[in-house]
Amino acid sequence: MDFEINTKGKDLFLALSTVSLILMMFITTLLWWFISPRLHEISSILADISLTVLRIFYLILILGTILVYLTCYLERNFLIAHFAVAAFIKVLFPVTLMLGRLFGFNKDRLRISFIHVNNSFVKALRKKFKPEDVLILLPHCLQNSECNIRITFNINNCKECGKCSICQLKKISEKYKIHIAIATGGTLARKIIVENKPKLVIAVACQRDLVSGIQEVFPIPAFGILNERPFGPCINTTVSTDLVEKAIKCLVVST
Ligand code: SF4
Repeated sequence: MDFEINTKGKDLFLALSTVSLILMMFITTLLWWFISPRLHEISSILADISLTVLRIFYLILILGTILVYLTCYLERNFLIAHFAVAAFIKVLFPVTLMLGRLFGFNKDRLRISFIHVNNSFVKALRKKFKPEDVLILLPHCLQNSECNIRITFNINNCKECGKCSICQLKKISEKYKIHIAIATGGTLARKIIVENKPKLVIAVACQRDLVSGIQEVFPIPAFGILNERPFGPCINTTVSTDLVEKAIKCLVVST
């Protein structure tokens, strides 16, 4: 599995996450230091227990961080890394985003870096999924804005006129026998996921929607591919169909 899609650029997010963790450790230590005299007054056992709990918490954080780094850079599946990856995707992202903004980093740059990290986690699974277990999820803005055909409920309605990427993507889904769907928003995307119960989602969207989608569908792995927006957000967007096909070749069993 040596393809390179959205896998570079992880450093920014990983570095900021590590700083977030160090800050969290610093703040909890400071809190403990403030309340420890009071704890000692109540009971020295209570103070000892709280210190032990804090040390175990730090140990988990440090081990988790090491596992996340190893998973991300070696793209290997460390069994116990699942918990660390879950915490990373669900909890650490908002903290890191906040910290990044404090340091003056652009929100979208951070989101893109998060997507790179997430894609490494998916690749680290080193697993090929059956086509019937995979769902390609697309945003509605890929459809040409002048096209009146309703493709939201059935992409097969597309007449393949070639004016937008939908035509190519439809052909890719037929070639690899993978279910493909278009979502007009988060609610419909959730409904599609619930109905199809995929084991892997290959999602195309802007950075903001990809990040929220990846977090929402977790623990289902979601491989994110950024769309391109030559006319600005949410209108006549496009996507590299090569990237979509490469992701399929890497993550799906060929039929
Ligand atoms: S390729 Fe399909 S969806 Fe796109 S404009 Fe043509 S008919 Fe409409």
